[in-house]
Amino acid sequence: MKLLKLVCPFLCFTLLLGCFSNTIKTNRNQKQEIGENIQQLKYEEKYLESIQYPKTDITKLDKKIQACIETYRKSFHKQVKNFKEDRKAEFNVSYESYVKANRYVSIKFMIFESIYQNHEYIETIVFDQQKDEFLHLYDIYNEDKMQALSAMAKSYFEERFPQECDNDVFRSHISAIEDNFDTFVLKKDRIVFYFEEGKLFENSATFEVGYQDIDDAVDLKNETVPTFVPYPDILNEPVKVINPNKPMVALTFDDGPTRRYTTAILDALKENNASATFFILGSRANNAPDVLQRMVLEGNEIGNHTYSHKQLTTLSKEKIEEEIEVTQETIYEITHLYPVLIRPPYGSKNDTVISCAHDKRVVAWTLDTRDWASKNAKTIVDNVMNTVKDGDVILMHDLYASSAQAATIVIPKLKEAGYQLVTVSELYAYHPDYAK
Ligand code: ZN
Repeated sequence: MKLLKLVCPFLCFTLLLGCFSNTIKTNRNQKQEIGENIQQLKYEEKYLESIQYPKTDITKLDKKIQACIETYRKSFHKQVKNFKEDRKAEFNVSYESYVKANRYVSIKFMIFESIYQNHEYIETIVFDQQKDEFLHLYDIYNEDKMQALSAMAKSYFEERFPQECDNDVFRSHISAIEDNFDTFVLKKDRIVFYFEEGKLFENSATFEVGYQDIDDAVDLKNETVPTFVPYPDILNEPVKVINPNKPMVALTFDDGPTRRYTTAILDALKENNASATFFILGSRANNAPDVLQRMVLEGNEIGNHTYSHKQLTTLSKEKIEEEIEVTQETIYEITHLYPVLIRPPYGSKNDTVISCAHDKRVVAWTLDTRDWASKNAKTIVDNVMNTVKDGDVILMHDLYASSAQAATIVIPKLKEAGYQLVTVSELYAYHPDYAK
């Protein structure tokens, strides 16, 4: 309950924005490599609408983007006309954009509709700036090598989800035809194929392949790629498949990083193919920048726990902003990402703290392990396993040997008990009800 209350001001804030101006310009998402991010919000009696798209200033491409959004919007409006429920329907468009070799522009749209049911479509547009034309797969991929691509994708999925692959729906959607693989983007070093929900599996799925592994089939100019892979790329890539219908919890670790204990926890997470959220202190970040990068690269989330761990409710507005913003910048310098979550030290918050968080979400917890009090791994594990339930945000600290030890035990135990270990942002994405 604590959690639900906290987030409410942000929801109101968003809706207010919708009343005053329906276009907001933002440009913070690392996955958006081209154009200006335009956001349009609408707050209607029957539905909520949030549309984000890139304004690229490439005439042909911008036209296509508008047409694409319009198609989905029309279909939504048609369906929502007779919608009668207590809640509002919702139409949401978000996107990622990629530029390869200064020439190929790829846009991936995620079109989310919530009417009687939720449904997400994936649509990609690939544009060759040099030829001024849109590309389909066979424009860049040799048709004769299609069988090989299909076989690669097939064995990739079969290895990971053997039970889900033994059926005709999967076999027909993975077969070697252009249509099956025509939803793709060209990243700098690899091509990524998307299969929207209900195609291969109930959930959407992703398959990617480096250009060097298909160099006999594609002819795209090579370019050097920075070694650091930004976090959103990792999160959206195929290692992580989250089943929204299965229970999930978010482990969170506050007050780090500490090289010794944080690293042990990261090892346990990696071994179990699990993720967690680390609410780190800005003051500690530069002691272990490589640990922060590792968090991100392995699909974990970093949240802001302020710079120096002061109780924010005792500080002036200026001081609170400084605690938050210096930490944002410190983390950005190391990871190329701004945290979207803030957890105030001691969970202390008031209206000033919340207003200083601006667009970042203020996050509490629902299960307190009190690891700092017991400093006993068994007690910590018992505290979790005796009370855990779907949707819990679990509080621990990567400050103590006992907490690290407890984490290595509790991570596989939670998985065994059927929980998916996700980040806090993922938990909210799949359980938007927690955000009300
Ligand atoms: Zn703390």
